[in-house]
Amino acid sequence: MKKCSFTEARFLLSTLDEIPPFYDKDKKVLPEVALVGRSNVGKSSLINHLLHRKKLAKVSAKPGKTQTINYFNVDNQLIIVDLPGYGYAARSQDMQLLWSASIDNYFQKRSSLSMIVLLLDSRREPTKEDQAVVEWAQHHKKPLLLIFTKSDTLGERERKINLEKALHLLPVEHTLSYSVKDPRSRQNLITTINKLLHGLAQ
Ligand code: GDP
Repeated sequence: MKKCSFTEARFLLSTLDEIPPFYDKDKKVLPEVALVGRSNVGKSSLINHLLHRKKLAKVSAKPGKTQTINYFNVDNQLIIVDLPGYGYAARSQDMQLLWSASIDNYFQKRSSLSMIVLLLDSRREPTKEDQAVVEWAQHHKKPLLLIFTKSDTLGERERKINLEKALHLLPVEHTLSYSVKDPRSRQNLITTINKLLHGLAQ
């Protein structure tokens, strides 16, 4: 796979159903990069920022709005997968179960899943669900990137303290800070996704 420059993003579909993988014109399966995290972590904002599109992924005024799995084709080279946010307390028990089952199902069955991006709010401590994602990725030997979102909301000192605390609970090798207010964040993320998808060959 050649380096993906994230020039053109196209929304494909939104569903909780199991679907076949996506292919390129040479009939090769497109690798999927799945973004996951707690509701309100800033996932929709990051996806819109990364894919340079306004309102491509819905930024919720109310947390817990993203209910399905959204698939985006990027440059006909990879698929960005927006998984439902977890841990929204006001959601009913049944809904919470449905949510976690759909993430679980995607993780268990999706052979085209090539990389997981776990988002954590820079100001918050990791939850049990965050820990479960890390354990799953490590167990299945999937490349995992931990992103500290909304990094502009903290000063450098606080950011460092929170990062160290989080890494105690989430022992992850690859991390990145991200702010939608900082254009360098996007370029850093693109570089990191390419590196991890190429098996750190660069
Ligand atoms: P989602 O539920 O994970 O999709 O989260 P959203 O993208 O809807 O964002 C939740 C809230 O965080 C919104 O009010 C966003 O404007 C805000 N937000 C997201 N990213 C950033 C960021 O980088 N910096 C700041 N200051 N706020 C952010």
